[in-house]
Amino acid sequence: MKAELLYEGKAKKVFTVEGNDQTLVLSYKNDATAFNGVKKDVFEGKGRYNNLISAAIFTYLSQQGVASHFKQTLNDTEQLVEKTTIIPLEVVVRNIAAGSITRRLGIKEKTPFPSPLVEFYYKDDLLGDPLINDAHALLLSDVTKEELEQIKQLSLLVNKKLQPFFTEVGLQLIDFKLEFGRNYTGEIILSDEISPDTCRLWDIVTGEKMDKDVFREGLGDLVEVYEVILKRLEAVK
Ligand code: ADP
Ligand code: UDP
Repeated sequence: MKAELLYEGKAKKVFTVEGNDQTLVLSYKNDATAFNGVKKDVFEGKGRYNNLISAAIFTYLSQQGVASHFKQTLNDTEQLVEKTTIIPLEVVVRNIAAGSITRRLGIKEKTPFPSPLVEFYYKDDLLGDPLINDAHALLLSDVTKEELEQIKQLSLLVNKKLQPFFTEVGLQLIDFKLEFGRNYTGEIILSDEISPDTCRLWDIVTGEKMDKDVFREGLGDLVEVYEVILKRLEAVK
């Protein structure tokens, strides 16, 4: 099925598919990186959890009418997706202050926002994914003003859909990052992954961090936490 390795990123490998140039295989790795690749480690089992959690989230979103690149899981660590040309924007949606916004703007962690914030970052590792405004986004990507607005609205819709999804398994959705791409028809669709690597999730009862911050902040066993998330999702399926 897999033809050749197209790209190896920090968290996934991307393979072409024999005989089908409109699909790709995403292979989730066990590697964890933080602070733009400065902190690194390998966690046995992490690739499997992120693959299965991401698949569960994309499946739910599709049931809710939010299309994505996800087609099917192939095995524990791999999924088949629709090939897109990734728009070099990382879209972050925030419900509660945590992470970079607390450092950048001095907002205390745990401060809720009256309505969700949408931020754009320029997807460029060499530049450290800088925060950009709408004018920069239009300059640095091929999206039109209307498409940028569409991306914002889609990101807010994903937030609206994911909040009750996580509440049902006792998790509060603090913030998350999305990537979008264009498929062969030029349509913009949700791509990449949605997992505890790309979301902040806090246990509703204990307030415990149950996402990549466990690694970023050295709070405990990352894989154990990801396993709890998958188990909770499977229990409500
Ligand atoms: P990074 O490049 O940030 O290190 P990953 O290790 O997750 O990230 O690598 C996966 C790469 O695949 C990312 O660059 C991501 O933008 C890209 N990607 C995700 N979904 C698709 C898709 N459907 N089509 C093409 N590329 C994709
Ligand atoms: N995020 C991500 N990839 C990135 C940057 C951020 O998935 O390259 C996610 C991160 O996990 C969090 C949200 O986006 O859920 C907001 O991250 P933030 O800007 O607070 O950055 P960080 O604290 O990671 O520096």
